[in-house]
Amino acid sequence: MEIIERGAAGAARVAVIGGLHGDEPAGERIVRRLADRLPDPAETTGEGTVRLIVANEPALDAGVRYTDTDLNRAFPGDADSDEYERALAPELMAAVDGFDAVLAIHTSHSAPPPFAIYSELTPSVRRTVTALGVDHVLDAGGLRSTTLDSVVPHTVSVEVGRQGSEAAVDFGLEATRSFLRAHGALADESPIYQSVTVVEGLEEVPKGGGEPQVNFANFEEIPEGAVFASDDVYTHRVEEAGIVPVLASEHGYEDIFGLYGRITGTLDPQPSEERSPEL
Ligand SMILES: [Zn+2]
Repeated sequence: MEIIERGAAGAARVAVIGGLHGDEPAGERIVRRLADRLPDPAETTGEGTVRLIVANEPALDAGVRYTDTDLNRAFPGDADSDEYERALAPELMAAVDGFDAVLAIHTSHSAPPPFAIYSELTPSVRRTVTALGVDHVLDAGGLRSTTLDSVVPHTVSVEVGRQGSEAAVDFGLEATRSFLRAHGALADESPIYQSVTVVEGLEEVPKGGGEPQVNFANFEEIPEGAVFASDDVYTHRVEEAGIVPVLASEHGYEDIFGLYGRITGTLDPQPSEERSPEL
């Protein structure tokens, strides 16, 4: 894990984490570009901090998702574990302990648009999600409890686009700058907030074997009775209305086609933030 400290305009302590998964180079590239552009802590008058983190260097060097076990399925981890990522997890948690806002950058094999993920909606999380420039946020509170956003308060994960694409780096860099503005860490422009559609994560959709086929795109409502995805083992027919896919992909994951979600409402900016955000 590499930690790069940069100065913040305001008083908030915020962190940006890239490289949780080694086969998603966009996060590290975004972190390093920010490191080049943000001021040295000694050059800023603010009391806050921007902590930039490259999480899993061995996996990034090898170009693999993980070396021993999936880091974003290994929290809270175990410092004594022989598995590299399981031992890294508590170190990473300690690096952002007590921070006011944390953003974890991811990419996927799924099609755009970018979207955000949270497990617990705190005021800080609302501020982040409504500032990122995404139209959808996945409420993953009912899913796995082994992800970073489920164990570190005020953490939002953002899926910035397709793995390896320049578009993912471009969107992610802009979203991250918006995140810093929203928390007062970057004072170059006023943050812009928008309402975001909330999708409750319901369950993972398992994959069996053979040729996978996915018939619906992310956040596209699946008509009742339609088949979301199939392979030689499964035919996933949706028997209720209002179901949308999240992280849908044919080849992105070994064991799942993605998730089922349900649109539950809208997350609006804090009323005070629609016009003049307070720091
Ligand atoms: Zn990832």
